[in-house]
Amino acid sequence: MTDSPRQHKRTRAVHSGIRRSQYGEMAEALFMTQGFVYDSAAQAEARFEKVGADEFIYARYGNPTSRMFEDRIADLEGTEDAFATASGMAAVNGALMSLVAPGDKIVAARAMFGSCLYVLDILARFGVEVELVDGLDLDEWERALKGGAKAVFFESVSNPGLEVIDIAAVARLAHAAGALVICDNVFATPVFSRAVELGCDVVIYSSTKHIDGGGRALGGVICGTREFVREIAEPYLKHTGGAISPFNAWLMLNGLNTMELRVRAQADSALAIARALGPHDAISKLVYPGLPSHPQHDLAMSQMGSGGTMLAIELEGGKDAAFAMLDRLELISISNNLGDAKSIITHPATTTHQRLTPENKALLGITPGLVRLSVGLEHSDDLIADIRQALE
Ligand SMILES: *Cc1c(COP(=O)(O)O)cnc(C)c1O
Repeated sequence: MTDSPRQHKRTRAVHSGIRRSQYGEMAEALFMTQGFVYDSAAQAEARFEKVGADEFIYARYGNPTSRMFEDRIADLEGTEDAFATASGMAAVNGALMSLVAPGDKIVAARAMFGSCLYVLDILARFGVEVELVDGLDLDEWERALKGGAKAVFFESVSNPGLEVIDIAAVARLAHAAGALVICDNVFATPVFSRAVELGCDVVIYSSTKHIDGGGRALGGVICGTREFVREIAEPYLKHTGGAISPFNAWLMLNGLNTMELRVRAQADSALAIARALGPHDAISKLVYPGLPSHPQHDLAMSQMGSGGTMLAIELEGGKDAAFAMLDRLELISISNNLGDAKSIITHPATTTHQRLTPENKALLGITPGLVRLSVGLEHSDDLIADIRQALE
């Protein structure tokens, strides 16, 4: 099957990247092997000198199942290549760490997942200059990029505040400053992503989320130019052990088959929930990029064509009200994954974003009353009923 860019994403998500063995198997094969046998010592020598297109050495470097996942996601994202990693954080760490050296500068949006901030702290420890800006304020980006920078890094839709970054505008400023644009695109999902078209050079996913879609396995991926992926990221990742397990890559590959159907249904339900909860006495703020009340609603619609699958809801009664609501939910689970088939609710201030200082939490709107809802595949009427009864 060809990987024609004229085909729809939904078609390519099923067919792209398939490599069939001599058996002509229909489904994507799971090559659960760390190593590969050489016909001769000379062949081994030759392969270590230069790896050919359909050749593998060791699963830490690459594996046929992992490569199928990489080729499929690269095709969907519109990048030349991709490297699959053990987790989303291995992808963030790999993309940033492989690129920078002491004295380089990274400008990043401060509305960011706690572990991403941790990676930036490590880089700062090794002499990388890290400047955090308000991602919504283009003047701040411009000021921080004045003296040039190696890279900019941001979550295109922030976790959990759902701030939507103007990718095209930030990419213009970054490129003018000679910086590479690296985007954590988890909340946008590959379904609603136009990251490359808007100017991103490197697009990162935690495939643990919507790509797996069933909360089964950790995984991640770095999508970019062949040069970035194979000459910058891959050497770092293959020597430091960040590669994905072939089994997890196989799960992700199968996740991509159904991703578009799942994510669109989840986003439809998220919009239905956001509309149904409307003004409610117990809710002080409901954040959903698909609602006209969201500060970057127009941008979200032009950039993604959807509000996505996540909602942030701030409860009037603070932490006590948030905990009481979580405890009363019957259908929606208290957990901290997202993009799962099952709806999940999280209290970021005490869990995923506990590490942030009180000042940072306040700055990012991670208030004691804030809960984050990842909308699953249940019928939206049932989810709305569950939330309503929990708010009583
Ligand atoms: C979950 C997440 C990550 C980390 O992914 P893991 O697969 O858990 O390592 C990074 N960025 C964002 C925005 C996430 O939601």
